[in-house]
Amino acid sequence: MNLHEYQGKDLLASFGVRIQRGLVASNTEQAIQQAKKLQLETNTNFWVVKAQIHAGGRGKGGGVKLAKSIDELKLISNEMLGMYLKTPQTSKEGKLVNQILIAEDVYYSGAEQCSEFYISVLLNRSTNKNMIMYSTEGGVDIETVAAKTPHLIFYEEVNPNIGLTEFQSRKIAFNLKLKGKAFKEMIHFVKSLYDAYIKSDASLFEINPVLKTSDSKILAVDAKVTLDNNALFRHKEYQVLRDKREEDPLEVEAAEYGLNFIKLDGNVGCIVNGAGLAMATMDIIKMAGGSPANFLDVGGTADAKRVEKAFRIILKDPEVKAILINIFGGIVRCDRVAQGIIDAYKQIDNINIPLIVRLEGTNANEAKKLIDQSGLKVDSVKLLQEAADKVATII
Ligand code: GDP
Ligand code: MN
Repeated sequence: MNLHEYQGKDLLASFGVRIQRGLVASNTEQAIQQAKKLQLETNTNFWVVKAQIHAGGRGKGGGVKLAKSIDELKLISNEMLGMYLKTPQTSKEGKLVNQILIAEDVYYSGAEQCSEFYISVLLNRSTNKNMIMYSTEGGVDIETVAAKTPHLIFYEEVNPNIGLTEFQSRKIAFNLKLKGKAFKEMIHFVKSLYDAYIKSDASLFEINPVLKTSDSKILAVDAKVTLDNNALFRHKEYQVLRDKREEDPLEVEAAEYGLNFIKLDGNVGCIVNGAGLAMATMDIIKMAGGSPANFLDVGGTADAKRVEKAFRIILKDPEVKAILINIFGGIVRCDRVAQGIIDAYKQIDNINIPLIVRLEGTNANEAKKLIDQSGLKVDSVKLLQEAADKVATII
């Protein structure tokens, strides 16, 4: 689950990570109130208005603007709220800005007196360890740094049995070329950041920039936070942070019915039970020359209701030109699933795209018979390869 910048910063702050403070607003009136409140709390003279969307690169697209007066803040807020913000990380249409963050200006003595660093915490899947990735070259162009000057990016891996050691956080502050107060502040920053990452069950923290202010404070100016969905049950307090407006509507709908669904770019809709079989099905479709429109795991209990729901979700995607159902009857009986498919098919008015069904496992022969005799325009096949070849020739 991805968080908005303001939510990510609040989460970090709750673990003692210093942040650029700010207050969120969803209309201009509220923005002005928040700006005044923030001025009292922080003594800031200027405000940074930041579009809250689930995408980075906002600065480049006009989603981060400095306001030097309430009048300016009003103008910027009016312009930003309700706009479709296009950044290098959004689609061509951009993303609707529903909320803005009014943040204190932390570059108060001018950008030349500040330094911007890059720090992220993530899981390195090839070494099975959490890793802190950092660079002196923070700011809006870290992608260019990674591509052109990769030696300027440092990595620190954390042994899960020991945790982040004192030595490691000092090394990071040292490699970032800090001294005196900023050096100590950075050690504290790194420690509390890593602590937050572990305790919140996050899968990604990306703080770009981490700022050294003119008076040597170290703080998070931006925060990209991804929490591990599989650990959300341990964090009831974070569940309210989900902003469904930012997610794919079909994925949201599928999740409500307990279906594991991920939308893809192709045109073959897939309904499969079990994640492994779903992956294998997608591979075979690809190898046969087709292209999957989605990943969909209906789970172990592929009953009529779930199959019908899956159908309905897949049919909402205008790109889908054929549907391939691949169910292994291990826990479920194939004849039950077949009946489910037939019932679902009859429930839905206009399935006018080809449907190819492959059921294997317990009572597979009975299932094939049921489908063949149903009189519906459903192709029943025995082998997955056959099914994939068939779909590929149709589309
Ligand atoms: P992103 O473009 O989506 O990554 O958004 P960021 O939150 O990283 O902001 C982009 C840029 O805005 C930063 O790299 C800073 O240069 C600038 N910025 C952010 N906060 C302030 C601030 O308090 N004052 C000033 N003057 N600039 C800021
Ligand atoms: Mn940023």
